[in-house]
Amino acid sequence: MTETKATCCYCGVGCGVLIQSDGQQVLGVRGDPDHPANFGRLCSKGSTLHLSAQPGIQKQVRALTPELRSARDQPRLRSDWDSTLQTMAQRFADTIRKHGPDSVGFYISGQLLTEDYYVFNKLAKGLIGTNNIDSNSRLCMSSAVAGYKQTLGADAPPACYEDLDLAEVIFIVGSNTAYAHPILYRRIEEARKNNPQLKVIVADPRRTDTAREADLFLPILPGTDVALFNGMLHLCLWEDLIDTAYIAEHTEGFAELKQTVRDYTPAFVAQTCGIKEEDLIQAARWFGHSKATLSLYCQGLNQSSSGTAKNAALINLHLATHQIGKPGAGPFSLTGQPNAMGGREVGGMANLLSGHRDLANAEHRAEVAALWGVDDVPATPGKTAVELFEAVRLGQIKILWIVCTNPAQSMPEQNLIRAALKQAELVIVQEAYSSTATVPYADILLPATTWAEKSGTVTNSERRISRVNAAIDKPGETRHDWEIATAFAQKLEVLMGKTASIFPYETPEQVWNEHRESTRGRDLDITGLSYQLLDTQGPQQWPYPSGATAGKQRLYEDGIFPTANGRARFVNTVYQPVAEKTDPRHPFSLNTGRLRDQWHGMSRTGTVAQLFSHASEPSINMAKQDMERRFLKNGDLVHVTNKRGSQIFAVSESDEMRAGQVFVAMHWGEEYVSGRGHGDNFSMGINALTSPAIDPSSRQPELKHAAVKILKAELPWRFLVFGWVDSAQAFSLQQALRPFMREFAFASCVPFGRDKVGVLFRAADDYAAAPELVQKIEALFGIYGAQVLRYDDARRGNARHILVKDGALAAVALAGDISAESWLKAYLLDQEPVAKLGRMLLMPSTSAPQGFKARGKVVCSCLNVADTEINSALDSLDGSPVDILAGLQSRLKCGTNCGSCVPEIKKMILVRNKIAA
Ligand code: SF4
Repeated sequence: MTETKATCCYCGVGCGVLIQSDGQQVLGVRGDPDHPANFGRLCSKGSTLHLSAQPGIQKQVRALTPELRSARDQPRLRSDWDSTLQTMAQRFADTIRKHGPDSVGFYISGQLLTEDYYVFNKLAKGLIGTNNIDSNSRLCMSSAVAGYKQTLGADAPPACYEDLDLAEVIFIVGSNTAYAHPILYRRIEEARKNNPQLKVIVADPRRTDTAREADLFLPILPGTDVALFNGMLHLCLWEDLIDTAYIAEHTEGFAELKQTVRDYTPAFVAQTCGIKEEDLIQAARWFGHSKATLSLYCQGLNQSSSGTAKNAALINLHLATHQIGKPGAGPFSLTGQPNAMGGREVGGMANLLSGHRDLANAEHRAEVAALWGVDDVPATPGKTAVELFEAVRLGQIKILWIVCTNPAQSMPEQNLIRAALKQAELVIVQEAYSSTATVPYADILLPATTWAEKSGTVTNSERRISRVNAAIDKPGETRHDWEIATAFAQKLEVLMGKTASIFPYETPEQVWNEHRESTRGRDLDITGLSYQLLDTQGPQQWPYPSGATAGKQRLYEDGIFPTANGRARFVNTVYQPVAEKTDPRHPFSLNTGRLRDQWHGMSRTGTVAQLFSHASEPSINMAKQDMERRFLKNGDLVHVTNKRGSQIFAVSESDEMRAGQVFVAMHWGEEYVSGRGHGDNFSMGINALTSPAIDPSSRQPELKHAAVKILKAELPWRFLVFGWVDSAQAFSLQQALRPFMREFAFASCVPFGRDKVGVLFRAADDYAAAPELVQKIEALFGIYGAQVLRYDDARRGNARHILVKDGALAAVALAGDISAESWLKAYLLDQEPVAKLGRMLLMPSTSAPQGFKARGKVVCSCLNVADTEINSALDSLDGSPVDILAGLQSRLKCGTNCGSCVPEIKKMILVRNKIAA
């Protein structure tokens, strides 16, 4: 077995991993103890990466050969690379000749390596001559980019992870760090342990695990962040907490902003944000008084119709109080995706150019054109994500090439996205996974390599570049993303009559070396780095110019900013409410965000059944008082609806929510939750409802707020099938079940299990489904034939069909009355012998067998510890919360591996203590 250095392919923390393999197959994974992002730690997602790479799973979900369809109504057929790329090149050449270069577009991904990004950007802007290339980073970080550029002059997060250890105040805003960046959160926990004086303030509409642990929680109303930051600045001015000398020497534009924030009185801000005035005052005092305040922020600021202003208003606060450019201080945006930063470095978006250059700048365009050896780079900004799909829908863009992303799951207003995908003359999908919701729309499917198979570089949130190495060979006929773009470009060059290729690459290193050159003299200069240096000396932060011996840990320590006059700029930020107001017909604000153990569209984490144990099925979280007012109880189905679409979810009471707000995890696309829908459209998951309203500067959509109405779904007929399946078939089964989900008013389908894999299919309707439909679904679970125990009451529409194997439950189907779900599921999960239950297995009763105790929800997914086990251990533990946690960890081991569940365990301790008191 060998160990290969790479990084985790999920979030922007950028943890180093060691992939254990025999060269053919991934055998395991562990955190890289030498990597400065994680020092050997991994969260629940990273530590299960190897499970997602198992050959049995890969066989079911991977795209392994190029596929091509001859016409829209024909199925895609297997093809070879050469003819597929030739066909594509010909279609591009013909379309560009006829309609111009802006008739084609690319939608790429923050999951790509920097080298992949670089080649695609050059292909679009350098060869084809269109800026219609945008990335799913538009949904993630573009407001952070715009915020940094407007204020500090360059898209460069000024802080570093070490600042977490040095801060006196950590201000977390719009980020559930405990879930979204767990390894950084572990570092915050550590910092608090080492420095009991450290204060953590959290501002978030939800009382998340991150918020619950804060010293001060500001439960602001959705979209009111600018008012909060302006209000804090108002107070800092009032209480003389600003640094006038720093403002005078290193900034400009403060006088105007000062005028503006005069109106943001504590009373006005408290009312606007829905928080207590004294909490606002406390937050401002802690922020301004502290020697070092570090702000951490993510999608709560970025995914907003005023995302740039939110970023700028927070940075204003840092500049005014001089909480920047010194250890432990700074406005530190956390990147969502693993290489959002790398994409920004190569300018892989519709308004950017290589090396942090701007498309709008003629000099910058000329520099990049010279570097690429082309006459020019087009000046017109390209279409950004939402606009790109709209242009496809309107027929302006005729060919769309989608790379390593799943817009049919992740883009807002899915109705329009699906319409665009149907409207395009040619849709190319370059993907590692054939299982995503976008793949069925592909006319051409290009199979790409993925984690453990790729080599190159990525950059994490703290500007740190890591080498990623391939541990195993490319499977099937897959190719690396940069290779595919290069081979295509060479073919297109011939058709465009070019005599010499500007795509001479044979290795990722050659691509990277060219990218490195594009940074020379820029703020992110990495001319002092090489693959060899990164391999031998480990990950490095930029800038790292030629001649340097180390990267720059934190920026702007000298107070000089990368603006024309070296001064940072205050932006006159004015609070604007969310784009879509709630009203009496749509009274709820729908928020979206991450689950602890899932990643984005779940194409990868969705293949690891144990990652579903923490949040096992799609649901909508709602405040207790809202549920009571609507006579809803846990598990009831509700229609969540607005003018864009409708989706049914099971409702779940949550003490995280304020009244009037609801939350659905961003991961639940039509792969996991769907239904018949209305008219031509089936239900398409959460993003059927989200808003395409965009920020005017960053063009980032407001995924954090949509106005919706919620009505109880009166669907009396229920249907549920669950059972163990051959792990080599589990994901094929889920895909086979996907079309059936659209036969019911509501349906969901998820895997479960740990050592064994199961699949659960749940449906509801206002009438009993046709027996043939039920039989077909049951048959997919092996429930057919004489060995099945059966109870049927056709008159009432009730049925219970049970498959027993080796004396234990193997699969169960319940129709009509599903009240026995809980105990039957527990028997199946625990593989309890069922012979003793006899006829009880089929009795149409709700009561569980005597002595049955449901195991409950798994809290610690690494060590498989459920909430019932924790609660029962809590009954016999006393002392301070710290002692109780230690007692639990020593007894049950929960939270002792990756630590991702520790905030939840602490919450359970608090709840138990409250009850005991
Ligand atoms: Fe991966 Fe977790 Fe590290 Fe993020 S925090 S990079 S998901 S291991």
